[in-house]
Amino acid sequence: MITAKKSIRLITIILAVIATSSFAAPGDSTVVELHGHLRVEGNRIVDQHGEPVALHGMSLFWSQWMDQYYNYDCIKWLRDDWKCTVVRAAMAIEHDGYLDNPEREMKKITTVVDACIDLGIYVIVDWHDHHAHQHLTEAMAFFKKLATQYGDTPNLIYEIYNEPEKVSWNEVVKPYSQAVVSTIRAIDSDNIIIVGTPTWSQDVDVAAQNPLDCINIVYTLHFYAASHKQFLRDKAKVALDKGIALFVSEFGTCEYTGDGIIDHEELRKWMDLMDERKISWCNWSVADKNETSAALKKGASATGNWSDSDLSESGKLIREKLRAYKLETIKQK
Ligand code: MG
Repeated sequence: MITAKKSIRLITIILAVIATSSFAAPGDSTVVELHGHLRVEGNRIVDQHGEPVALHGMSLFWSQWMDQYYNYDCIKWLRDDWKCTVVRAAMAIEHDGYLDNPEREMKKITTVVDACIDLGIYVIVDWHDHHAHQHLTEAMAFFKKLATQYGDTPNLIYEIYNEPEKVSWNEVVKPYSQAVVSTIRAIDSDNIIIVGTPTWSQDVDVAAQNPLDCINIVYTLHFYAASHKQFLRDKAKVALDKGIALFVSEFGTCEYTGDGIIDHEELRKWMDLMDERKISWCNWSVADKNETSAALKKGASATGNWSDSDLSESGKLIREKLRAYKLETIKQK
């Protein structure tokens, strides 16, 4: 016969076993624990269970000009308060960037990547360059180092050429991409690589006619809502229908300059398209610069903890959108 005392002890033990077992609610898992290694299937990104997944988050600003936000506490705030599932580190190449200061800029990148790994979110390392094909040797060396250091983590996503200008896909951007992709794939066989497209990463329809022959490749589509409208959404649809996957690694709520008006109506149309086609996105940008696209007002703390009065109109809008996504929604087909 079990005494009352024994019953209480037994219940205590059972409760302790339940508490320490793996009955964690989905809300307790990080996004990377839930989705694991991502890959590309057809024109979509799928997770470790084969379910389509879209990531949503923020892009940091050029690393040489706004590096105060390249720190652990800021990334943690972006995860916890903004509900970012991905953060993009935009490593400047020219203009006093990586080419002149490789160690200094690399350190900023490893700080952000280490933070994202610790916090269980995805991280894009972006070769933030408009002339990357002129820096092929440096890009190959950098991505070789990055792949060696982080290629076995599910968190890392490579972005190898932010925005090619008006150069040929077939003659310039594709050969550059093939060389960098081969360098990465020699070390890391599987993590997703985002490949830039001509005309400031708009010509995804051109890339779709002659894509790279490699697994887990997605193509960059950038838009600024007040400048790039239906013509660019049409190009996106052509590319998707041709079978390539897209990633909006950068977009603004405003004009292509990063400034000017916010176009709410066009932004809504873009959001509808991205949600419908499961396209991942990062908003430009985490910065306290005096321009419309900057999410923060001048002097906003480097370590997060921002109140509403620290956020710009664009920042408030995007934070609201990010917080509206639920993991359940992300996992819906
Ligand atoms: Mg890997």
